[in-house]
Amino acid sequence: MQIHQLYTENFLRNFTYLIELTNGKAIVIDPWDDEAINSFLTDRDLSLMAIINTHEHWDHTQGNEALIAKHGCEVWAHANGKGKIPGLTRMLDASEIINLENDVQIKVLDTPGHTFAHLCFLLSEAGIAQAVFTGDTLFNAGVGNCGNGGDATVLYRTISEQFYTLDDSVVVYPGHEYLENNLRFTLSLEPENTDAQNWLAKAIQADPVAAPLNTTVGDERKFNTFFRLGNKTIRTAVDCHDSSDKDVFVALRSRRDNW
Ligand SMILES: [Zn+2]
Repeated sequence: MQIHQLYTENFLRNFTYLIELTNGKAIVIDPWDDEAINSFLTDRDLSLMAIINTHEHWDHTQGNEALIAKHGCEVWAHANGKGKIPGLTRMLDASEIINLENDVQIKVLDTPGHTFAHLCFLLSEAGIAQAVFTGDTLFNAGVGNCGNGGDATVLYRTISEQFYTLDDSVVVYPGHEYLENNLRFTLSLEPENTDAQNWLAKAIQADPVAAPLNTTVGDERKFNTFFRLGNKTIRTAVDCHDSSDKDVFVALRSRRDNW
């Protein structure tokens, strides 16, 4: 099994992912550009088995129809995506385990907040969680917005219950490349955060086409403000000294929307 991360070079900075299996089959997550995906499949002699859409927004589904027409592949997504996700064939359930090949599994995480048809996918190899595909729920150094059919309180519950609890070593594969901008947001609240400073320097140098930078959950705990709700400097910055973690999260989401 190999994970391929394709940066789409569009104005929204989307990522598409391909999971390549040893049997020559592949799964694509959030297809943006069908032609780029087809040439990738051809170059590596892979056949497309399924499309997974993390959620219903057009920038995560626009490659579906052309890929279905060419490959006759299945489309897997959240049941609430019915009528919104082109070609949906399989509605996935929360906590469902999908065996991709020997020792490789993905666990379906039902992750409302950005929208109410959003799933994330935790990939494990030999029983050890390796990576999580997070769509527009969790970004490197940030979280998704709630302005297009979402709810910040629900997103707080999703992030705190399903992402704070992941192992530090799990790699975060988000739906968009927002790392540099998100780190600047962190530093706007916590200017002395040296982890954010160091990662910002790396992010400025990085080329997302050649080698996208990805964080782990352990990194997120160091510089993603939405993982640092008890931090006094952050609480002071959003005027939430004695608020609940949930209220700090909602205040941060609102600050980020207007930043
Ligand atoms: Zn979205």
